[in-house]
Amino acid sequence: MGTAASRAWRLANPEKARANSHKRKARALNNGGTWTAAEWTALKAEHGNRCVACHKTEQELEALGRTLVPDHVQALATDGYNNISNLQPLCHGIGGCNNSKGAKHIDYRSGVGIPYDTLEMSKVVIQIPME
Ligand SMILES: [Zn+2]
Repeated sequence: MGTAASRAWRLANPEKARANSHKRKARALNNGGTWTAAEWTALKAEHGNRCVACHKTEQELEALGRTLVPDHVQALATDGYNNISNLQPLCHGIGGCNNSKGAKHIDYRSGVGIPYDTLEMSKVVIQIPME
C-alpha cells in the first residue's frame, strides 16, 4: 500500500511508521488514545528491549527473523485504548509470541507469560491464577 516515496519513508522511519499505522487503526475503531515513536522506544527500553513473553532480545529475535512489535494488551477489537499504557513489546514473525494471541487479552507484563485475565467479546472474564 502507498507510493514508493511513502514506502521509502517507512523504511527510513520504522518506529514512526509503526506509531502512525497504530494511530490510523485506532482512529478507524474509534477507540481513542495515541502514542509516539519516542514512547514506544522508551517502553521497549523499560523491558530491556526484549519480548515480554519469550524474553529474547531484539538482536536474538532478528536472528530468528522476528521483530518486536507493539501489542495491545487489551485488543483494539475489544475496545482496548491505543495508549502506551495498553502496549507491550511482543515478538512477531516465524513462531512469534504475537502470532497466536489474536484478540485475546493477555498481559505478559504482569508475569512470565501468565494471562491474568481474558477479555472475550464484550464480556469480561477474570481468571485469577491459582498457585
Ligand atoms: Zn516472543
